[in-house]
Amino acid sequence: MNWLAWSQFLAGRPAFRQRQLEQAVFQQLVTDWSAVTTLSAADRQWLTDNCPLDIKARIFGQDNDQAQKAQIIFSDGQRVETVLMRHGDGRRTVCLSSQVGCPLGCQFCSTGQQGFQRNLSSGEIVEQALLWQRLLAVTGQRIDNLVFMGMGEPLLNLAAVLTATEWLHRSNGFNIGWRHIAISTVGLVPELKQLTKYGQQIKLAWSLHAANDQLRRRLMPINRRYALAAVKQAFLNYAQVANRRVMVEYLLLDQVNDSLVQAEELADFLADFPKNLLVINLLTYNPGAGQFRPSQAKVRRHFANILQRHGYKVTERNSLGQAVIGACGQLAG
Ligand code: SF4
Repeated sequence: MNWLAWSQFLAGRPAFRQRQLEQAVFQQLVTDWSAVTTLSAADRQWLTDNCPLDIKARIFGQDNDQAQKAQIIFSDGQRVETVLMRHGDGRRTVCLSSQVGCPLGCQFCSTGQQGFQRNLSSGEIVEQALLWQRLLAVTGQRIDNLVFMGMGEPLLNLAAVLTATEWLHRSNGFNIGWRHIAISTVGLVPELKQLTKYGQQIKLAWSLHAANDQLRRRLMPINRRYALAAVKQAFLNYAQVANRRVMVEYLLLDQVNDSLVQAEELADFLADFPKNLLVINLLTYNPGAGQFRPSQAKVRRHFANILQRHGYKVTERNSLGQAVIGACGQLAG
């Protein structure tokens, strides 16, 4: 989607035109402007030339799979991946990418090891959701949740992420409530402050993975710029202002960050967070990047028990996307 052309088209036109365009694209899900007969032939041609609706993509997996992955190819040849997850209770979640590659180079992440090409535009982010909404509409379904957990660090491309999110949230867009939109981030302090000021109840997931600066610096180079204490404070402010739980993501890596001492360390580190504003999600590592192995089942259990004994709510995400190599941090393009 080319928002620049979209805005250019609407400049100086009455408000109902914008509504017509949004309804055509996001609700009727037209794939060709020639189907929008409320527009003049000249307008349809202009939009076809400047704001085409076709999306070039390859879809992996079948329509009845729990998870499907798509690779979207943009006009400059760059590609990103996006995943559709179908949950047992009927909800459907779409995982979106925000960058082509990622500059942050986390050691355990396939995307991070691939390097960085460029940020996505807001239109390119919207296209990912539009692709799945079109596919779901065939069976009368729709997207319920959006999560920015695909390729890239969303807070490094925050303006485009928020513009895209606003489009998808609007009643003439996909009408997805703020509480059904999640952003997963390593935690960049200035952008977290900006999100706090933004004032919507977006859910935040914090890619933490280590509870001391020394180990986190080794796993996640970004920790050299923002020390853990400052990042924790920024998340805490967000949680209190937005009145939303932060989900702490902790990827258990065999003999790296999964000892019982490290479980105690994590419990201590998070102790100043009110328990009702925090969930700890223990993730399973999907071999792909780096020299890591997933933790053993017994170790995972003990790790979770220690956190629970300290009063934390602990979940272990069922990584649906794993079926198409699309679990968090595994979208490698
Ligand atoms: Fe980038 Fe996230 Fe991967 Fe880190 S985990 S390299 S921030 S995509």
